[in-house]
Order: sequence, then C-alpha cells, then structure tokens
Amino acid sequence: MQRKWWWLLLVLLGFSLALVYFWPQPPIQVTEKTELWMDTVVRIVILDQDQPDARLNQALTEAFHCFARVESLASTTIPTSEIAQINSHAGVQPITVTPVLQALMDSSLFYADRSHGAFDCSIFPVLRLWNFATNDQAYRKPDSTEIRAKLKFVDYRKIQLEAQQIYLPAPGQGIDLGAIAKGYAVDLAFEKLRALGLKDFLIDAGGNLRFASGPVSAGKRRIWIKHPRIPAAVWGYLKLDQGGVATSGDYERYFLVDSVRYHHILDPRTGYPAHDCISVTIIAPSATQADALSTAVFVLGRERGMQFVNTWPDVAAIILYLEQDQLKYLVSERIRDKLVIENKTIAQLNL
Ligand code: AMP
Ligand code: MG
Repeated sequence: MQRKWWWLLLVLLGFSLALVYFWPQPPIQVTEKTELWMDTVVRIVILDQDQPDARLNQALTEAFHCFARVESLASTTIPTSEIAQINSHAGVQPITVTPVLQALMDSSLFYADRSHGAFDCSIFPVLRLWNFATNDQAYRKPDSTEIRAKLKFVDYRKIQLEAQQIYLPAPGQGIDLGAIAKGYAVDLAFEKLRALGLKDFLIDAGGNLRFASGPVSAGKRRIWIKHPRIPAAVWGYLKLDQGGVATSGDYERYFLVDSVRYHHILDPRTGYPAHDCISVTIIAPSATQADALSTAVFVLGRERGMQFVNTWPDVAAIILYLEQDQLKYLVSERIRDKLVIENKTIAQLNL
C-alpha cells in the first residue's frame, strides 16, 4: 500500500516538473530604436521588463541625445563643431572646449601615447588627402610626395591641451576622432541608461558595442562578428554578458586600384593603409577603449598588436588576416572559450 503512494507521488512530481519545463514563456517585450548619427546606424535594444513604456521611450530619447551631442562637438564636417573650429584655427589661436570634448581628447591622447602613435588623432591632414575624411566616397590615391608633405603635420604630441583649451600650433595640422568618438558616445549613452535604472540592454553604433545583461539575456547574448570578405555575412560570435566590443575592418571604407585595396585605417608612420590585418575585434570593459584599441591594433599588425593587447589585463582581441587568400585568425587566450566560429548570412540570424 505504501509503495503505491510512492508511485503516485513520483507521477505527480514528474507531471509538475514537465509542466514547469514546458510552461510557455511570457512574451519578451523588446523596446528598440534605430537612428542615424555620426554617419553611422545606431541601434539601441532594451530588454528590461519592469519599466513602463513612457520611461523606456524617454530613456531612448536621452540615450540618442548623447550621440547628437558628441557628433555636434567632434565632427570634422560640421563647421561649428569644436573639432572643426580647432582645425580651422590651427596656427591661429586656441579654442575653448566643453568638458565632454576635453574628456574625449584626454582619452585620445592617452591611447595615442600607450600605442606609441599607432592610434594618432592628428592623422586628419593625410586622411583628407585620401578623401577618407568625408563621406562622399570620392576616394583617391595620392602620390607619395603629397603624402610625405602632409605626414609632417601628423604627431599627436604637438597637440596642445591645457585648461579646456586646445591648440594646434602649425597651420595644416588637424584632428580626426573617427577612431574613438563612436565608442565614446556609446559609453555616454550606456551610462545614461544605467543612471535611469536600466539593466538589460545593448547599444550598437556601427559595430561599436556596449551592453549589460539582466535576467532576460544573461547567458544568451551572442555578439556577432562580420565576415570581412563576404558582405552581409558573419564569421562567428562571442558569448558575452557585458562590456564593450569594437571591430575595425579594411572592408568598411575602401577602394581598389589594380586589385590593391586602399582603406581608411592609416598607418601614421607611412600615411598608407595598414595592411597586416583585415579585421580586428577588441573586447574591453568600455566601448571607448574597445574602439581606440581596435584601430591601434589594426595599425600595429598581428604580432605587435597581440603583444600590445596582452599588456592590458582586461582586454582581448580576435584578429582576422589572409594567408595565401585563406582567412585565418588569432584569438587571445582569455576569450577563446567565448568564441564560436560559425559562418552565416545576416538574413539567417533573424536579428
Ligand atoms: P575605426 O573604424 O574605429 O578603426 O576608425 C577608423 C577611422 O579612424 C578612420 O575612418 C579615420 O577617421 C580614423 N583613423 C584612421 N587611421 C587612424 C589612426 N592610425 N589613428 C587614429 N585614427 C585613425
Ligand atoms: Mg576605432
């Protein structure tokens, strides 16, 4: 008799377990918006479930405002921006800047220093020669005399930054923050959303990401890395819950002359595109750091780039390169178990 009760108990238990297991999940509410800022598609996806719609929409507005603000200060093509003013007053007078731009310039000079000039925001005069400084895609290959003439203006150590004033002492010098400003804007937006109480969200500014995970996405986030040679395809993904990720690639802005690829990431020592890597993904605590370091490592190349990455205790890299037309990769030891190589088309991802 007692045995029978045991069976009944087990059946009941099994039934309830099955019920819990197969219980339909409540639909997940996704609040997302895409806007165009800094010549880039910016996407914010919020998965927090415990906030009223009005609050989520307000949070999106405030987060996008961070991109508007950074663009209005740091753009080289908006004549009223502080950077455009600094550039047009090179050799004339210092320009007083806001604390937001000062902080961005402090970071830029810090990464320039740490990378020994592989990342150098004074690259603007050479960038302009190639026409990579504008977005009209009228790229051109300058000759070596032109490059040499402009290269003498490139040296971040000559930027004078004091008491919220920035001065370029020689006419012809110029600053371009294209390698760091998007990451910086992502971090400002990230801090804004956190300050508003959000915990589960992702900000993506053209491959410059920062994200945090709450109960909905913890353990499930996949950060996809674009395939550098197949448009609209991905190469693999990272299983990460939080942090900053950025990718620099030779496939973003480029042109071909006699089958040679010329792209927008320039080696400040030569004035020509850096050529050892074709894609560099950096995983770091912040988007600013990931953005600056992805450009620096791209310029440094595989070997020196990986050595440089290893000098940062909480930074990792995935470097893609070509060897006899074969796509190969290097991955930092500390991220290896988070990487899954899986080639797919973007349509298959159903993002
Ligand atoms: P990213 O895609 O973050 O690697 O940034 C590339 C952009 O940074 C280019 O479009 C230029 O505006 C700028 N840039 C190119 N080469 C350098 C460099 N060596 N250091 C700093 N900025 C650079
Ligand atoms: Mg960058």
